[in-house]
Amino acid sequence: MDEIREKITSLIKDGKAGSVLAIVKNGINVIPVQITAQNLDEVSNICLDERRYPIEKMLASVIDARDDSSPVGVVLRPCEKAAVIELHKLQHINMDDVILIDIDCSKELRDKCACDWKDDLVVKVKEGKGFLKDETLDTLESSTSRERWEFWSKHFARCIKCYGCRNVCPVCICKACCLEEADVVEKGELPPEFPIFHLARAVDVAGRCIDCGKCEEACPVDIPLRLIHKKVFRDFIRDFKYIPGASIDEKCPLDFIESIKEEGD
Ligand code: SF4
Ligand code: SF4
Ligand code: SF4
Repeated sequence: MDEIREKITSLIKDGKAGSVLAIVKNGINVIPVQITAQNLDEVSNICLDERRYPIEKMLASVIDARDDSSPVGVVLRPCEKAAVIELHKLQHINMDDVILIDIDCSKELRDKCACDWKDDLVVKVKEGKGFLKDETLDTLESSTSRERWEFWSKHFARCIKCYGCRNVCPVCICKACCLEEADVVEKGELPPEFPIFHLARAVDVAGRCIDCGKCEEACPVDIPLRLIHKKVFRDFIRDFKYIPGASIDEKCPLDFIESIKEEGD
């Protein structure tokens, strides 16, 4: 913790970063704060406990609001760093504008998240093993399509269309969201039409989702949302040996669709 505080302080004092985005304690809550030379004492409030916040989503706004071109530091957990890599690939941010300040997660949080991030995931995939074992997903994959339909119908019947899953998702960044288009999702209908609402989101983040589980954590009615996204995440790893968020240079296999579109323009 002291090391992180010292690093942030020196980045700002030495002028290497114009500001640093971090999560700080605010009473019993945590909030994101942009630390600058003017409020450097906030460094002492930085929170590295198990509470998570969609800090990656705020990075683009902080970068856009800069008075000058100095980089913005940001304190990130391994999955959040992966999300920022995806945001760079989506051209939502430019990594040249960012100084990453890595933090590790506690063993407790790793167990709670069933997390394979950090180097473990990349190593496991390279060795052809690991693949994010998930017994519930394994069971679902081996069930019949009717059983899967019933499983998801039952869970999605509880959806109150609060958009919490979308709002918290670090790689869900479209300004105009298809989930708010009446011709995609009918207005005023609760629960939202199954499966289009949830399917549209899954398609939207396919190849970008970094399996952080923040969507599931945010869902007020305990829908196992991470399972849907983990299915796609795992398929990308298994079928394409592509790990969303692992490398800034590797292209998402779905990017060929964009290339075809560009060639057709
Ligand atoms: S998924 Fe959880 S444990 Fe893994 S990096 Fe993210 S916050 Fe940390
Ligand atoms: S796990 Fe959920 S919140 Fe995290 S990136 Fe994937 S879809 Fe978004
Ligand atoms: S967070 Fe849960 S209840 Fe809210 S829209 Fe998403 S799935 Fe539905």
